Amino acid sequence: MLYEKGYRLISVSDYIDGNIDVGAGMTPVVVTFDDGTLSNFNIIEENGEFVIDPDCAVGIINAFAEEHPDFGRTSAFCLFGTNPFRQGEYLEYKLKYLVDNGFEIESHSYGHENLSELGPEAIMKSLGKIDRFIEEKVPGYRIRALALPYGGRPKDDQARAAIAQGRFEGNEYRNEAVFAVGWQPERSPIDMKTDFQYLNRVHASNEKFGIRYWLEDFDNHPEKRFVSDGDAETFTVNEKDLASLSYEKVGDRAIRVIK
Ligand SMILES: [Zn+2]
Repeated sequence: MLYEKGYRLISVSDYIDGNIDVGAGMTPVVVTFDDGTLSNFNIIEENGEFVIDPDCAVGIINAFAEEHPDFGRTSAFCLFGTNPFRQGEYLEYKLKYLVDNGFEIESHSYGHENLSELGPEAIMKSLGKIDRFIEEKVPGYRIRALALPYGGRPKDDQARAAIAQGRFEGNEYRNEAVFAVGWQPERSPIDMKTDFQYLNRVHASNEKFGIRYWLEDFDNHPEKRFVSDGDAETFTVNEKDLASLSYEKVGDRAIRVIK
């Protein structure tokens, strides 16, 4: 459905950096999976060989990308605990496979705690531990984002600061993007109103405010939809939106204003 309606995948990192390279007329979309279930990434035995289950998320994405290479296959897996994907014997293989094949691994805390109930110290312990666990298994890889378990976001400033960045047992972490459970599409990354510490997401469901609801909404209101001009080097902005342009995000890249 996304492909047919002109949506193309970008990564979490691309969204953070404002790199939207999807071709003219296309709309960028970021796909995230929470919890690291077996159905996200499953290895099965087939004729004495170990292969990626064609019915798990990675298998389905790979097969689709083979037939539709312009859709891309980057997607982010937000993991918690010490046994993501529930097949300990393949954990290192899976993590390296994801990073080597254009997928992303992001944080979903260490113990799937509701972070709205924790103080800064406990938050730093949870977020520092999961990042170290993953980064030790995939040397050189850096986690940049966090999906909030249960969408829980603390109210006080110190705890919120500990979600954005912190340190635990010498391990520094930084969550440049933080995902809520969400119920609506997010704004452009170069919009000042975009809160990177509490980004909306849309559920892949048929329910109200699920993906079908919003795709239909964009079909009916194409003026609300972000459409790329195909030029990844330049930001094209409506004159009326200039007031909320984040020049910090744009950096020294070029801006083109249309009326
Ligand atoms: Zn979860």
